[in-house]
Amino acid sequence: MKPDVDIAVVGAGAVGLAVALMAAQQGLRVAVVEAHAPAAWRADQPDLRVYALALDNQALLENLGVWPAIKARRAEPYAAMTVFDEVQGSPLRFSAGELGRSHLGHIVENNVLVDTLWQALQPLKNVSMHCPDKIQAVSDQEDSVTLALQSGLEISAGIAIGADGARSKVRDLVGIETSVHDYAQKGLVAFVKTELPHQKTAWQRFLSTGPLAFLPYGEHVCSIVWTLPDERADALLQADAGAFCRALDSAFAGTLGKTELVSERAAFPLRRQLAKTMMQGRTLLLGDAAHAVHPLAGQGVNLGLRDVAALQEVFVAAKARQADPLALNALQRWARQRFSDNAMAAYAFENINRVFSNDNFALSLLRGPLLGVGDKITPLKNAMARYAAGI
Ligand SMILES: Cc1cc2nc3c(=O)[nH]c(=O)nc-3n(C[C@H](O)[C@H](O)[C@H](O)COP(=O)(O)OP(=O)(O)OC[C@H]3O[C@@H](n4cnc5c(N)ncnc54)[C@H](O)[C@@H]3O)c2cc1C
Repeated sequence: MKPDVDIAVVGAGAVGLAVALMAAQQGLRVAVVEAHAPAAWRADQPDLRVYALALDNQALLENLGVWPAIKARRAEPYAAMTVFDEVQGSPLRFSAGELGRSHLGHIVENNVLVDTLWQALQPLKNVSMHCPDKIQAVSDQEDSVTLALQSGLEISAGIAIGADGARSKVRDLVGIETSVHDYAQKGLVAFVKTELPHQKTAWQRFLSTGPLAFLPYGEHVCSIVWTLPDERADALLQADAGAFCRALDSAFAGTLGKTELVSERAAFPLRRQLAKTMMQGRTLLLGDAAHAVHPLAGQGVNLGLRDVAALQEVFVAAKARQADPLALNALQRWARQRFSDNAMAAYAFENINRVFSNDNFALSLLRGPLLGVGDKITPLKNAMARYAAGI
């Protein structure tokens, strides 16, 4: 019997919505299951969760036709990156111009991505939205997979996609294990006004407690992502605004002058969590359900959108050959490739964090010169810039 839909996506975060839209645009029938409808985006209520969206993912969103709407809402281009160390040495600087580009990426709020993608899906005839609803069971049949929802509805699909975030229920239901390393750190996020202009630069300062990023976000406003040991993050969440900004200015060595807190503060726990596989039976995992990584400079969602772009290539290639886009062997290849790319990125972020975020005296002597040397070796520097920008 033909399943109800080709693809059932659980989780309507940025990754789940992007994969649903991509699949629908490939002509597939899609069901989306989401526990909570996203809040409509409001210009005067910026989402504290922001991403440094890389150029390859901008291209994906252009390809999906949603980039103009995202840009019209709010997406701040950044044209340079400066990385420097607390202890000593000269900074490492990348600029878009050196790569022949006008910018290296955009700083985008999570809610801008989610709400824009959500709106784009609503009019599509081949997409059914099940919200609010939750996944309760997943069972594989020979040619399909059945999802049982809390509402009592059952959806049969060619494949299921778990894009339901780091605490993925889909992952648990299909029995995919994870390897987890808790960094005992939190990412503290907020918006601050800076005395000096940010120069369209994404700044990252490595401190012994963890990296501190200032991401450009509007005139004299930056989004900060500050990695801190759990207790210190909790204390700074509670501190009054004045004390918070004094601590921030000292951690950032006053690089952009004095700061003023202009938003709430929030913190999220940091861990490396990798699912042991991205595919089991007829279920695929995408985004944080498969890989939660250290969000160095707001890179959190880039890997998940790359999962989507790689899946799009599988569907497009199948279409060109007039083959089944949901053929399991091609999807298994996708899963293996994405697993190794994501694992490499997760460990790279972790090792950068480890080398740069500790009190080890020998390492501290190495770090600054390392950045200075990186800055002088053009091919190495360009390779790093290209990786960060996703080109
Ligand atoms: C508080 C917080 C702040 C963060 N801040 C940053 C930041 O500043 N910079 C950065 O780079 N990264 C940040 N991250 C990480 C970043 O948010 C993730 O990398 C990114 O959201 C992953 O997107 P996703 O679509 O895979 O998952 P998510 O955005 O987590 O989306 C998962 C979706 O699944 C839905 N869902 C969950 N369970 C079920 C279920 N059982 N049934 C149906 N639906 C379900 C959820 O409601 C949600 O809509 C933050 C994370 C958190 C939690």
